[in-house]
Amino acid sequence: MKGDFSLPRGPAGGLVAGLWLGFTGLMAMAVVAGCNPAPPYPIHFGGVECAYCHMIVSDPRFAAELVTKEGRVYYFDSIECLASFVAEDEVAPAEVHSMWVSDFAHPDQLIPAAAAFYLKALRLHSPMRRNFIAFSRQTDRSQALASLGGTEISWNEILKTQPAHGATDATIRPG
Ligand SMILES: [Zn+2]
Repeated sequence: MKGDFSLPRGPAGGLVAGLWLGFTGLMAMAVVAGCNPAPPYPIHFGGVECAYCHMIVSDPRFAAELVTKEGRVYYFDSIECLASFVAEDEVAPAEVHSMWVSDFAHPDQLIPAAAAFYLKALRLHSPMRRNFIAFSRQTDRSQALASLGGTEISWNEILKTQPAHGATDATIRPG
């Protein structure tokens, strides 16, 4: 029987064959998923450029991400850069698959941009100085508001307040 890899015969044979087929099916799915895992995709901090302002994305507290339906991924160093990118139609709205922002309270987690709770913080310096931060939980935002000060704001309001390219608050220098 050397070299015979046929499946066991007998009453259990059908079951074993079925399990084997199921297993190979799972393997095939895992390979497909391995090539194209579901977004959000992990951000390589310090190693990718912001798609809007071209600064290096280095601070996990402010980072954001946009994924197109074709599977292209854009990384951002700040929520305001993602918002400006979207507001200026850098990618056609119909091409957007999903948008993600960092949870300021859990900076290793990206959360859906439209579902996040936002704060325009007072005592904080985000990369582009517009100081938008996001939270997955409303209670976390309330705590941040108490400690940092600022204004609660919605994703749609952030999109509306985005200035044209090159005219961010960062260009206004105090003093
Ligand atoms: Zn940027």
